[in-house]
Amino acid sequence: MYSNRINNLPPYLFAAIDEAKTRVSEKGVDVIDLGVGDPDMPTPDNVIEALCSSARNPDRQKYPSYIGMLSFREAAAKWYKKHLGIELDPVSQVLALIGSKEGIAHIPLAFLNPGDVALIPDPAYPVYKIGTLFADGKPHIMPLLEENGFLPDLDAIPRDVAKQAKLMFLNYPNNPTSAIAPEGFFEEVVEFAKENEVIIVHDNAYSEMTFDGYTAPSFLQIDGAMDVGIEVHSLSKTYNMTGWRIAFAVGNAEILAGLGKVKTNVDSGAFEAVQEAGIEAMLGPQQCISDMNKIYTERRDVLMVGLKELGIDFQPPKATFYVWAPVPEGHDSMGFAKILLEEAGIVATPGVGFGDYGEGYVRFALTRSVERINEAVNRMGQLKI
Ligand SMILES: *Cc1c(COP(=O)(O)O)cnc(C)c1O
Repeated sequence: MYSNRINNLPPYLFAAIDEAKTRVSEKGVDVIDLGVGDPDMPTPDNVIEALCSSARNPDRQKYPSYIGMLSFREAAAKWYKKHLGIELDPVSQVLALIGSKEGIAHIPLAFLNPGDVALIPDPAYPVYKIGTLFADGKPHIMPLLEENGFLPDLDAIPRDVAKQAKLMFLNYPNNPTSAIAPEGFFEEVVEFAKENEVIIVHDNAYSEMTFDGYTAPSFLQIDGAMDVGIEVHSLSKTYNMTGWRIAFAVGNAEILAGLGKVKTNVDSGAFEAVQEAGIEAMLGPQQCISDMNKIYTERRDVLMVGLKELGIDFQPPKATFYVWAPVPEGHDSMGFAKILLEEAGIVATPGVGFGDYGEGYVRFALTRSVERINEAVNRMGQLKI
């Protein structure tokens, strides 16, 4: 009944984890869910107010424009200038998205012919690979190894593959590894892109979620980046707005126009009241960002101390609300996640869920209170592993 495209999809591990979680909670276990990367804190009130008043305006209830309201794109340009120091033309260099997942999934449709290669990091947010497969593209995996700081080794990409590649997806600060891009890395990427005529799509969903004085760069800060790529930013994590479905892409106008062509033909843009709420999020008070980062730092530190007591000791992440922890010896990621769930009532995501190179790790999301994380740490301390 289904297309090969659907039949060939890899099994969706997260559905299996959800099922296992439900099974355990139904037994009456008080489950601590550190599985999904969905902020537990609410959207700021000023943003909710903006949505409510905008939704009452009949003009906002109509079909939106495909590329986003000019006012939203202007706000995104201002936001980029203020937060990441990049000048953008709101008319040609900003495109509104219905969440960045939407944009990422549609990009391959604009640039890949059947069999064209896209360079995909592994482990990674699954949409880069799935979007490529849905466009009948051919993923070429770039392993993200701990010894390389979870950066792809661009020199390890075979020359012929590099020459055939049309797209490369990157994401720093990174989900799931929480790695950051060191100075010089994006320069290398721009050089690679120019040499091989590859379009770079940098997913910067976590640019604002940074700790210990670290600030994450934009890919577009690099000389020449605007010629070769785009960057996707989402309001989901920055303003606790995952359910609102609002994001935007910025950068090279010609590349954005390609994505815009796909969007024009398959969707009708983000609800304008949500765009106006997004404007309020971006141009209103920004205190919520540092407040949240303080909370995530505290949660991270509690978890790191707990892991250290278990003999799992590594540098605390400087960004994202994930802790990517190596599993204890003698376990694989599925097995260890199963033990955490069944013997401690803790949901963590097995690394293989993000690709083969995620094996050997589990991801904890810092999306529960310090008290709950502390409780999780106590329970882990009692595990016999
Ligand atoms: C959460 C996340 C996003 C944001 O997705 P939205 O569709 O905008 O909610 C994008 N990329 C990565 C890597 C993420 O973890």
